[in-house]
Amino acid sequence: MNKFDYTRASDLADAVRQIAADPAAKFIAGGTNLIDLMKENVARPSRLIDITRLPLDKVEETEDGGLRIGALVPNSDLAYHPQVEARYPLLAAAILAGASPQLRNMASTGGNLLQRTRCLYFYDPTTPCNKREPGSGCSAIDGINRMHAILGTSEHCIASHPSDMAVALAALDATVHLHGPDGERSVPATDFHRLPDDHPEQDTVIRPGELLTAIQLPPVATGTRSRYRKARDRASYAFALVSVGAVLDVQDGVVRRAALAFGGLAHRPWRARAAEEVLQGAPATEDTFARAAEAELAAARPLRDNGFKVPLARNLAVGVLTDLAEIEDPADPGPSRPA
Ligand SMILES: Cc1cc2nc3c(=O)[nH]c(=O)nc-3n(C[C@H](O)[C@H](O)[C@H](O)COP(=O)(O)OP(=O)(O)OC[C@H]3O[C@@H](n4cnc5c(N)ncnc54)[C@H](O)[C@@H]3O)c2cc1C
Ligand code: SF4
Repeated sequence: MNKFDYTRASDLADAVRQIAADPAAKFIAGGTNLIDLMKENVARPSRLIDITRLPLDKVEETEDGGLRIGALVPNSDLAYHPQVEARYPLLAAAILAGASPQLRNMASTGGNLLQRTRCLYFYDPTTPCNKREPGSGCSAIDGINRMHAILGTSEHCIASHPSDMAVALAALDATVHLHGPDGERSVPATDFHRLPDDHPEQDTVIRPGELLTAIQLPPVATGTRSRYRKARDRASYAFALVSVGAVLDVQDGVVRRAALAFGGLAHRPWRARAAEEVLQGAPATEDTFARAAEAELAAARPLRDNGFKVPLARNLAVGVLTDLAEIEDPADPGPSRPA
């Protein structure tokens, strides 16, 4: 671990001022990802700017009937928030499918979205990795790539995005709020994380000096239900091989609205637009759900070790959509715990 300074931000303006003055500095929230990266010499910040005292720890109702979640709301508080459990069970389940209770108590909403890939080569500074050291090469393409992406990859990086919560936010059409040297701006959650292209070192569209301040959830459309399901190597404490977040509205046996996002398949949470096109207005049957998943996965480019993700993603999506379509009581939002 390198030597670093430690300071505390007194307010938003101070946080942005401090990071603008030292581009090699990093914000620290729960520290559950950043400290690991520092211990492995993957991250070498000159200074840690502690943002944990900033007033970003509230979950508030918005005027349009949605929720605004401060960037410092702990993952566990968010998962067990009564309004999240009742209205956004997909989000509660996604958070509870990640990490461990102790980690979720420390981890923040902003830090969760900004956590870095779990590619094992990224964590090993003795190997080439374009994300850690641009231009050095990608060890995973011809290496061990069982956990890696099959959609939207590039010749420079095939890493998959690790956050469960981000998959739920993509399916829910959430918005990410940022505060930086040029003021405030907002980005749809579906556009916040990037594909690797020729700049895999950039995970997101966040600009230098910007602080993630909040996530905003739109109101829940009447009649919709949502669910999250994750396939992983162990029952807990493991990142997704594949995960699915789905929002579905079925009336008289026909899909009125569907939003589908995959985790574990790409460098960012993968909103499944091709699948949604197949679902929209179609009969809510297992056959439709299978055709939708297959339409999305037609673009998959598996590598040596991760071909199993294609049928796994298909079957997971079909299972989640079938479960959602078969819930008969409209008052029942489905289970809010990981299945
Ligand atoms: C053993 C283990 C298992 C895990 N399993 C899972 C899992 O299954 N699923 C899953 O989704 N996650 C999992 N995680 C990851 C965990 O969810 C993240 O480490 C955590 O959410 C990061 O939040 P944090 O507040 O600790 O971030 P930090 O470590 O403090 O920060 C992470 C990054 O975000 C930046 N940052 C933090 N907050 C802000 C902000 N407001 N604005 C701008 N930049 C900011 C920091 O500078 C840093 O670069 C696991 C972690 C561990 C250690
Ligand atoms: S997949 Fe990406 S993160 Fe992993 S070694 Fe290749 S460049 Fe690095």
